[in-house]
Amino acid sequence: AAENLRRTERIQALGELTGGVAHEFNNLLMVIRANAEMVLAHAGGEAAAHAAEIVQAVDRGRNLTDGLLSFARRQPLNPVRVPLDAAVEDIQRLAAPLLGVAVEIAAPPILAGAAVMADRTQLQNALLNLLINARDAMPDGGRITITAGPGPEPGQCHIAVADTGTGMSPAILEKACEPFFTTKDQGKGTGLGLSMVAGFARQSGGDFLLASRPGAGTTATIRLRGTSGDGPPGAAADADGAGKED
Ligand code: ADP
Repeated sequence: AAENLRRTERIQALGELTGGVAHEFNNLLMVIRANAEMVLAHAGGEAAAHAAEIVQAVDRGRNLTDGLLSFARRQPLNPVRVPLDAAVEDIQRLAAPLLGVAVEIAAPPILAGAAVMADRTQLQNALLNLLINARDAMPDGGRITITAGPGPEPGQCHIAVADTGTGMSPAILEKACEPFFTTKDQGKGTGLGLSMVAGFARQSGGDFLLASRPGAGTTATIRLRGTSGDGPPGAAADADGAGKED
């Protein structure tokens, strides 16, 4: 337990440091981008081509700093009542074009009325991270199954993303949720995906579980507080059309 606490503290400290650096870095990137765009607008030929390269590199850099900022949780969470069936439908639609034809995505029917209290956007981001990891683990194609519903504990709901991919060795599984741990090629992985998912789950009053078997696949489960009512006052104001009851 003491070991776990030290680890949590270390990760928190790292988060604060990272957030600060990412913020400053973002500002610098904006200055670089604005100047490169000026060059792009006024110069022609080879200089313009180089300026365009700079703009592109800056945009890649901003992807990274955005990831760092959400890892460090500079954005506050806005928990609302999110019906699980709508959340899963949304993410299926959103992710479909990213996943590729060889990856089949299935979601068995979800108990109508099951809902969690969570920040809707952050939940979608978390699920997107899990789907991208699942796809990356299945270079030769496979099946992703999204399940969601009440439990396992009373008052809880879960959303699980299971894949039929490579799975993880025990050594990788142990490190997978650490910030900056990645086994992906440079430029492909930041190692922040799962640490963001775990951070989001914890900050929402839930947790995140990862189960994996080498050669068989991986199941990633987000557990959140369930809600049967309409959520706290004000939650109903977040009507962006994603929550539909049937
Ligand atoms: P990234 O995806 O940028 O590498 P993550 O934190 O999302 O960062 O994942 C860390 C590592 O955990 C991955 O590089 C990979 O080795 C492993 N991993 C995550 N999800 C899966 C999965 N579904 N199947 C196999 N390995 C996974």
